[in-house]
Amino acid sequence: MNKIYCPSLTEYKRRETIEVQIGEVPMGAHHPIRVQSMTTVDTMDTLRSVEQCIRMIEAGCEYIRITAPSIKEAENLRHIKAELRRRGYNTPLVADIHFTPNAAEVAARIVEKVRINPGNYADKKKFEVIEYTDATYQAELERIRERFVPLVRICKEHGTAMRIGTNHGSLSDRILSRYGDTPLGMVESALEFLRICEDEQYHNIVISMKASNTQVMVQAYRLLVQKLEEEGLKPYPLHLGVTEAGEAEDGRIKSAVGIGTLLEDGLGDTVRVSLTEAPEAEAPVAKALIDRYTYRAEKAQPIKPLCNIPIDPFQYHRRETAEVENIGNQNVPRVIADLSPLRDIQYADLKSVGHLYSMLLDKFNMNDLGADYIYTGDHPINFMLPNGLKEIINYVPWQLMEDQEHRHPLLTVKQYLQATQLHPKLNYIEADIHGITDELMERLKGDATAVLVLYTSNEHAMPELRKCFFRLMNNGVSTPAIIKRSYGALTADEMQLYASTDVGGLLIDGLGDGIMLGTELLPAQEKVAWLNTIGKLNNLSFGILQAARTRMSKTEYISCPSCGRTLFDLQETTAMIRKRTDHLKGVKIGIMGCIVNGPGEMADADYGYVGVGKDKIALYRGQTVVKKSVPADRAVDELIELIREDEKWIEPVQLEA
Ligand code: SF4
Repeated sequence: MNKIYCPSLTEYKRRETIEVQIGEVPMGAHHPIRVQSMTTVDTMDTLRSVEQCIRMIEAGCEYIRITAPSIKEAENLRHIKAELRRRGYNTPLVADIHFTPNAAEVAARIVEKVRINPGNYADKKKFEVIEYTDATYQAELERIRERFVPLVRICKEHGTAMRIGTNHGSLSDRILSRYGDTPLGMVESALEFLRICEDEQYHNIVISMKASNTQVMVQAYRLLVQKLEEEGLKPYPLHLGVTEAGEAEDGRIKSAVGIGTLLEDGLGDTVRVSLTEAPEAEAPVAKALIDRYTYRAEKAQPIKPLCNIPIDPFQYHRRETAEVENIGNQNVPRVIADLSPLRDIQYADLKSVGHLYSMLLDKFNMNDLGADYIYTGDHPINFMLPNGLKEIINYVPWQLMEDQEHRHPLLTVKQYLQATQLHPKLNYIEADIHGITDELMERLKGDATAVLVLYTSNEHAMPELRKCFFRLMNNGVSTPAIIKRSYGALTADEMQLYASTDVGGLLIDGLGDGIMLGTELLPAQEKVAWLNTIGKLNNLSFGILQAARTRMSKTEYISCPSCGRTLFDLQETTAMIRKRTDHLKGVKIGIMGCIVNGPGEMADADYGYVGVGKDKIALYRGQTVVKKSVPADRAVDELIELIREDEKWIEPVQLEA
């Protein structure tokens, strides 16, 4: 049995952790997974901070984090706390510290918890690669110890908790020089500080490993758990988050892919969803993600434990599969839109899945989110489909069709095992875990036309589907597989979070050659509303693929959630930049509120838009600043100019409908 990073890959169990005392709201052990968020107003504005805290508490936050960039803000936490307590709110406060140990030492005497970033607590980033010998590295660690021990002792004395919060984008030069920009570097960055805490017998600690790249983030948390165990360190609670997730739908999908993947495996004791929106909008998203696991253990159908894990959970490798038409192998994962409940599909109906029919030109145009296949079940389409879109129909009607060549059949396992007539190039076989028998696998091994469509009705869906993949891999079956999920009466928000978790959790581990999302709702009553839901599921499929970094079909925005340091209206600015650039497929743009943390945190963005002062913006190409102080009213134009210079700009095209 391989070593794993969580209590079980098949049964839902929360990882056992120590309890951490944070004011009146303890974390970890048997306590529920906590919701938290961070204020965005200036910490020196006591009244507005208090009012925002109250809105956040009423939206469900159980801890509130507030930035303390210097001693004066740290001191002002006293007034914010006093006013909240006076108004009857006892929610623990957390001071967020970057670069300023002296502010941390003040805050630790006032609030219930301090968050430090090990990448910048005792280091200033110079983007230098430094050659360390063991002796010089050790000397660096001694320097950190000297700087950090006073804070640890204050926390111990005052009963203050601490989060050691690593960020992928702000690792120190020391860590980068030795470990590179890797999950291992992130883990080691936290462990350097954690070992000092343990030497001081201080254990009131929570750890986080955030990144805006969901693959890196998931791998880092897993590795952290394993390293804690290997080194005999205590099982500290985990604070989960995806940094700079962005706004609206994309931000929610990305958060659910990263956070949900870990929650599925029982990891995580508190969640912060970072959206470029008002902080009170974050708590309901975090709560919706968490609530899914409240009764998971009771509702899940048992899954037999695994004997062999054929993937490396700490590194991304796509499962090796054969190429069947445009599916599997090196092809991007495909999107299949499930239109099967709809009868009599018309040209115009395909607009919902990204294929727009122009009556004027009598032709279809496909947008960037055009489905690759549509599944029409028992009701084949009676017109010619546009280029780039293919149809899948059930096996029985397919057998009766005159034109079988241009449609692909979907078979049950039983039909497949008994079939005498198949499509010569591509056949879909729908199977759940019980259908993946030895007989089926033997047959699949000799069939270069088969693509599996894996589904489950288990509440513990992602782990059961993952087990299906493991079974195929352990038996040497390289048939590509589509992940199918269908949801009943859920709200659009729930569907978005659940699908992102269920499918994203597999894609993050390189499992899955496509997505097929469907709704169990019927189009009988209101076709337009139903098509609208199908359109959302289609866009969601592309969003999940992008968030799991497996297929880029739109511009990627890495925007910070904003905080008391923010120098411009992030929501408004992000919306403005998005409006002008959202047709630039695959380009990554970082939008950061301040120069202190922004450049580091936008990680692997191609371009950066960073606040440097009042109405002043710095523009970055990768990690290099190219325009230092552009007036805010010209900054978006200059950003576009920069993209143009790099020949990555394309003019937006208006599709005719
Ligand atoms: S990058 Fe954004 S969230 Fe981070 S410190 Fe700066 S303004 Fe605050």
